[in-house]
Amino acid sequence: MNRPQNKVQYYVQGVLKQDRFILAKTITLIESSLDAHQEIAGAIIDRLLPYTGKAIRLGITGVPGAGKSSFIESLGITLIKKGHNLAVLAVDPSSTRSGGSILADKTRMEKLAVEKKAFIRPSPSGGTLGGVARKTRETMLICEAAGFDVIIIETVGVGQSETAVASMVDFFLVLMLAGAGDEIQGIKKGVSELADAIVINKADGDNTVKSERAKKDYETALHFLGSFSPIWKPPVLTCSVLEMKGIDKIWETVLDHRQLFEAAGELEAKRKLQAVDWMRSLLEEGLKQRFYSNHDVKNMLPKIKRDVEKGIIAPANAAQKLLGFEKCLK
Ligand code: GDP
Repeated sequence: MNRPQNKVQYYVQGVLKQDRFILAKTITLIESSLDAHQEIAGAIIDRLLPYTGKAIRLGITGVPGAGKSSFIESLGITLIKKGHNLAVLAVDPSSTRSGGSILADKTRMEKLAVEKKAFIRPSPSGGTLGGVARKTRETMLICEAAGFDVIIIETVGVGQSETAVASMVDFFLVLMLAGAGDEIQGIKKGVSELADAIVINKADGDNTVKSERAKKDYETALHFLGSFSPIWKPPVLTCSVLEMKGIDKIWETVLDHRQLFEAAGELEAKRKLQAVDWMRSLLEEGLKQRFYSNHDVKNMLPKIKRDVEKGIIAPANAAQKLLGFEKCLK
C-alpha cells in the first residue's frame, strides 16, 4: 500500500467501484497543493481517463439570489427520479473559507444532500481562478469515472469564472431574474457567447408577467446578436422553482442540444477543443511559474525593473534580457 503504484491502484479501484469514501479522498488529493499528492492525483486521473466522458456536463451561472441552489436542488431531485446519478461541483475563486464556499454547499441543498444518488462537493477554496478551475475540472473527470452520469458545475455570475466553467461543460445555462435592471447589458457583456440557454427564474406570482416580458426582450436581443453556433440557437425559457414549473422543459432542452451536437459530431469536437485549450492554459501557467521562480530571474528582476523605471533600459529590451537567460527555462 505504501508503494506509489499500490496507492494509485487503491484509489483507481475505489473510484471505479463507486466507493464514496475513496472518491472523496481522491478529490482531496486533487485539491492538495503538496507535490507528492499532485503526483499521485495525476497518475490516478490518467488511469481513470478511459472511464470518463460519458456524463452530461452542465454549467450553471447566475448572480447571488438568482436561485441557483434552489434550481439545482429541484433539477437534481427530478433527475434522480428519472434514474440519474448526479454530482454537483462548483468554481468559486472568491472562496477562502476552509472546507468550502457558498457555492455547491450541502447546507444550501439539504434535500439533495441526503439523496444517495447525489454527490455534492463545494468549490475548492483559495488559490487563483486557474487553480480552482483546474481542480474542479479534474474532479469532474473523477466523478464521471465513478459513474455519475450528470455533472452540474455551479459558478457565480461574474466575469472570468463563467468563462472557465463554460470551457469545461457541454451546456452552459445562465439563470436570470426579470426586472433585475441589467437584462440587456448582461447579454452584451458576453454572456450570449457562453450561454446555450437563458432561463428566467422566479416566473411566479407578481413576477409572471414581468418574466414573460423579459423573455421577449432577451429573445430580441439574442436575435440581433446572432448565433455563435451554426446548429444551435440559445433559447430563452422561464421557470419557477417555487412552483416547480418549467424544470422539465429545461432538461428537455439540454437533451435536445446533446442529441443534436452528438449527431453532428460537434460534442466530440467541442470536448477535444476544450481538452487542448486546457492543456495549453496549463502549459502557459506552468511556464510562467517556472520563469518567475527561477533563481537568476528572481535576482535580476528587481534591478531590471528599477532600470526600466529610470529609463535606463527600454521595456522591450528589459524583457528580452530576462527572457534571454537560457538557464531560466531549464
Ligand atoms: P442563489 O444565491 O443563486 O443560489 O439563490 P438561492 O437558490 O439561494 O435563492 C435565493 C432566494 O430566492 C431564496 O430565498 C429562494 O427561496 C428564492 N427562490 C428561488 N427560486 C425561486 C422561485 O422560483 N420563485 C420564487 N418566488 N423564489 C425563489
